[in-house]
Amino acid sequence: MKALAKTRPEVGLWQVTRPVPEIGPDDVLIRIRKTGICGTDIHIWNWDDWAARTVPLDLVTGHEFAGEIVELGRNVTDLAIGQRCSGEGHLIGRHSRQSRAGKFHLDPETRGIGVNEQGAFAQYLRLPAFNVVPLPDAIDDEIGAILDPLGNAVHTALSFDLVGEDVLITGAGPIGIMAAAVARHVGARHVVITDVNPARLELAAQVADVVPVNVATEDLRDVQARLKMTQGFDVGMEMSGNQRALDQMVEALVMGGRIAILGIPPGKSPVDWSRIVFKAITIKGVYGREIFETWYKMIAMLENGLDIRKVITHRFKAGDFVDGFEVMRSGQSGKVVLDWG
Ligand code: NAD
Ligand code: ZN
Repeated sequence: MKALAKTRPEVGLWQVTRPVPEIGPDDVLIRIRKTGICGTDIHIWNWDDWAARTVPLDLVTGHEFAGEIVELGRNVTDLAIGQRCSGEGHLIGRHSRQSRAGKFHLDPETRGIGVNEQGAFAQYLRLPAFNVVPLPDAIDDEIGAILDPLGNAVHTALSFDLVGEDVLITGAGPIGIMAAAVARHVGARHVVITDVNPARLELAAQVADVVPVNVATEDLRDVQARLKMTQGFDVGMEMSGNQRALDQMVEALVMGGRIAILGIPPGKSPVDWSRIVFKAITIKGVYGREIFETWYKMIAMLENGLDIRKVITHRFKAGDFVDGFEVMRSGQSGKVVLDWG
């Protein structure tokens, strides 16, 4: 089969020919139809320090996918050949206290497809049947291929009650934009999204009914005054990994405000803890998706009017992956989807 692998410790990914994976008794084999390119894949492409430390050479990368089940392991009785599906890319153990309590997303032994294990940028993917998420007809393959990052957005957005609340999202990358759409869908009052990249803010306004703010040229306080927000935002979602964005969020929050942080700063970043203490702010770190509650909620929302399709700005044939990665690396795109035919 064709696949994209990290065959050399340098910038890039390379198309390779690999055997179709053999499945175990509890696995399924998925024929991949569409995949999404993630920020993580860009780290792997760029071969930055994190990637060089984490990703084994020769690995087939990619973890955002939709496809069709073409083979079942002999113990798999609750899935069928031909079933369209996406799936959770975090492979969890069953032995940790967290897993045994059903908090699968908190398992410390999690391994990621396309990061630690063979990934989804390939014509076929082996996946434990446990990780499969069947797709209803209402969710087509390209939306199925971005459920992983939508799940990050949903997990973050549902961390705190948003009904009637004023919400600040810092970072209008694909995940911040989808989180804005979710906040709107579940009934937030004002949803303000910040970035320093005008293209991203423009895209955010196309995807959801939000107030886009370019913090490089606009003062967030002016926007708050315009929206008649006397005290500040009730809930913040940090989706940029940028220190200045987090500082700005802490300043812009009400007393007793709540922050969910998904964005990953590049290194240790200084935090003004006394500000957080005196404002009595609650902070929650968010990792991955809740397995499988986030999947349940996002599919239910997609079936009931949540529309994030416009966040997909570019589509390429898998063979043209170099173009897809180039667009994604330019910062001028939303989600980029590859078609495996
Ligand atoms: P992205 O890099 O595409 O988007 C980040 C955006 O933040 C960019 O548009 C950038 O211009 C913007 N930004 C930079 N400085 C800013 C500032 N001062 N104020 C406001 N915005 C600013 O990332 P993404 O794919 O949308 O993911 C969002 C974040 O979530 C990333 O940091 C990513 O690493 C992280 N992430 C975390 C998890 C997790 O499990 N915790 C999973 C996926 C992604
Ligand atoms: Zn991803």
